[in-house]
Amino acid sequence: MKAHLFVNHHIRVRVISILLIISFVFIMSYILLFQQLKQEHQAEIDKKEHFTDMAATSVDDFLISHKVVLQRLASLDSVKQERRTEITQTLQDIALAQSKATLFWVANEKGTVVGKYPDTKADQNILDRDYFKEAMKGKTTVSGPYKGRITGKEVIIITVPYYRDNKVVGLVGMSVPLSELQNILDNVMEDQPGYAALVNYEDGQVLSHPELEQYRKTYSFEDSPLYQEIRVKKLTNGYFENDQEQNVHSFITLKEAPWVVILVQPLEEFNFAINQQRERNFTILILLILFLVIITHYLLILRDMENAEKNKQTEKLALVGELAAGIAHEIRNPLTSIKGFAQLIYEKRGQDLPPFYYETILEELDRIDLIVGEMVVLAKPAPETKRKVDLDKVLQDSVNLMSYQANLKEVQLVLNVEPGTLYIEGVVGQLKQVFINLIKNAIEAIENKGTVTIQARRQGEEVIITVEDTGPGMDKDVIKKLGTPFFSTKEKGTGLGLTITYRIIQNHKGKISVQSKKGVGTKFTISWSVSRS
Ligand code: ADP
Ligand code: MG
Repeated sequence: MKAHLFVNHHIRVRVISILLIISFVFIMSYILLFQQLKQEHQAEIDKKEHFTDMAATSVDDFLISHKVVLQRLASLDSVKQERRTEITQTLQDIALAQSKATLFWVANEKGTVVGKYPDTKADQNILDRDYFKEAMKGKTTVSGPYKGRITGKEVIIITVPYYRDNKVVGLVGMSVPLSELQNILDNVMEDQPGYAALVNYEDGQVLSHPELEQYRKTYSFEDSPLYQEIRVKKLTNGYFENDQEQNVHSFITLKEAPWVVILVQPLEEFNFAINQQRERNFTILILLILFLVIITHYLLILRDMENAEKNKQTEKLALVGELAAGIAHEIRNPLTSIKGFAQLIYEKRGQDLPPFYYETILEELDRIDLIVGEMVVLAKPAPETKRKVDLDKVLQDSVNLMSYQANLKEVQLVLNVEPGTLYIEGVVGQLKQVFINLIKNAIEAIENKGTVTIQARRQGEEVIITVEDTGPGMDKDVIKKLGTPFFSTKEKGTGLGLTITYRIIQNHKGKISVQSKKGVGTKFTISWSVSRS
């Protein structure tokens, strides 16, 4: 019962410690994982913002380089003097160098075109255009989209004013197709998932989109939550993530035009890297836990083995101690009386002494001899080589040896053997010792008259031998102590008989058990697996 509790307790401690370790690792990993995912997420955002920045810079660079060209143009005398043929020639030269723009022109303060390239279609008046008014105020502008009056394409228009006597007298301009803007963005987004678009900051009109026509037909960016947020909060750059939408947006306003570059990337793409990381972390976590469990288990087993080894060692030492104490005690008693009588004999030397003196000394010496003799059997380290033993014969011999003692007490010895089948591997002398010890105890237990029945039979693969007496039986306390060296309830007992018996049975790989009932009798049962040799 106690041992059982101990085992339960032991397992509980082990389970709890393993659980503790697992939860500790789990929590730690979760925190680290969480941290890492947050960092990962931030890194993704940073990356997106970096590309948004690149896209914006590319468009700004494009606009600056074209503004510079127009400014140079605006400073030319031919322009200021509005000399048409010269202007046309210059514009042609520029057009060849700036192939991205589809139309270059110069217009005077009345909005009348005074030169253009290509000069294939009729001149148009631009008095009504917004950029004209702005240019007349001396501003360089980028505006659009317009449906080009000459090209018929959707374009943006860049204009720069020109001066005479520090007064604005006209403007130079160029038309760039929206598709050119999209080319710039597409170049930036080449290896990136998703796409980039350009919208007008003021009204949300889409200037550039990979599928511009289709997009305009199906969607109104002006009404989108993103544009609302940008306008309401007057944001100039930022990152927009929204649960309802499949895309994440990052945006930035340009320096050279009132436009916003928006990077639109699918959420899946965005999450893919993070998911991958999460899966990897999860696998590592599981492996780590497994590893820890195995290690813990292994260490615990190792510790158990060590403990078991130690226990065995302690048990052995305890047994040796017990034996030594027992031997000392058992031999000291007879030695004391021998010494006493020897002393007496010495003191009364020369006198005629009663034979009782010498008899006692001899008796006590016999007892020492008996104990030492039994000790020798116990101490014998390696058993003699085993042979095939016929138990039938061993039992016959043992009973014959004990019959004299049985007769003295009017005890009947009954031997009941199933002949011919009872063979085991063993040492004859030792086995005989076992049966003599058991029969002797049985006879000694019976006070007067009774029966000792010895039975031997085969039962399946086992040989079973019982030694049963009609003696007084044993108390529970006595049964518990059976086999303990020097445990005896008899006045002249050595308490070594059963110790030796158990030891021999153990060496023969057999089992021994006892059943005893007060007032009814005692029955020892020994069993062996049948010899196969
Ligand atoms: P010893 O015979 O010298 O006392 P044993 O080791 O042979 O030592 O037996 C130990 C004790 O076990 C005995 O003293 C006795 O009390 C008890 N015992 C053994 N066999 C029997 C039996 N058949 N009936 C009753 N008691 C027994
Ligand atoms: Mg005995």
